[in-house]
Amino acid sequence: MSERTPLVAGNWKMHLSRREAEDFCDRLIVPPPPEAEVVIFPSFPLLPAVAQRLENSWAECGGQDLHPETQGAHTGDVSGPQLVDAGCSWVLCGHSERRQDHGEDDDLVSRKVAAAATHGLVPMICLGETSEERKGGRTFEVLERQLNAALRQRPRLFALAYEPIWAIGTGETATPEIAQEAHAYLRESLADLIGAEAAAVKRILYGGSVNPETAAALAAREDIDGFLVGGASLDPEQFSSIIRCWG
Ligand code: PEP
Repeated sequence: MSERTPLVAGNWKMHLSRREAEDFCDRLIVPPPPEAEVVIFPSFPLLPAVAQRLENSWAECGGQDLHPETQGAHTGDVSGPQLVDAGCSWVLCGHSERRQDHGEDDDLVSRKVAAAATHGLVPMICLGETSEERKGGRTFEVLERQLNAALRQRPRLFALAYEPIWAIGTGETATPEIAQEAHAYLRESLADLIGAEAAAVKRILYGGSVNPETAAALAAREDIDGFLVGGASLDPEQFSSIIRCWG
């Protein structure tokens, strides 16, 4: 395997019952193990059941969000230690639905990334431009700003997920050319921040309406190291076919 082992993540958002989630895991975790690492992000109540089902398998699980503080009076929030306790090794930070629905700004995302690192969770940092920003020629400016903020505390372990907002849940997958251009830009910007050697081994995932039909052409691009999958991650056969487009 290359230094950048492909990584495929499934973001279940606010979907599935416990029984459906357990059934999904049983259908996903079948031999042989894939060439890609796999992480599933279920909603909080599903975490213990999913973590138990995935124990000793080739897939891991993560939280969809965390609070920057360790504990306290934060109704409805979840802390890093609670995620670890529930069996998580990863956490999503800065997903565009959190930025849009909950007003999360770059500063909050930066504090969440730092909290994840403190508690031994690997942050999967989501970044991406809106359709207006792309049309206005501001894609790179937005990515640069989001990246600089998210890495302010210089976490050692992280993965990036380039998720153009116009492609999320819309059925409009970015073309391999558009995605590769953004990924190459992110890797160059990473090199400025953490050095070329470290940037060369960081995984940059693409997210936005990935499906079994679009996955292979995206996966073939030099700087696309995996996927963050929403809709298609709810179907074990589709998700499995995306995971297995490597190897
Ligand atoms: C996501 O929510 O991160 C995502 C990429 O969703 P979808 O695959 O449905 O566009």
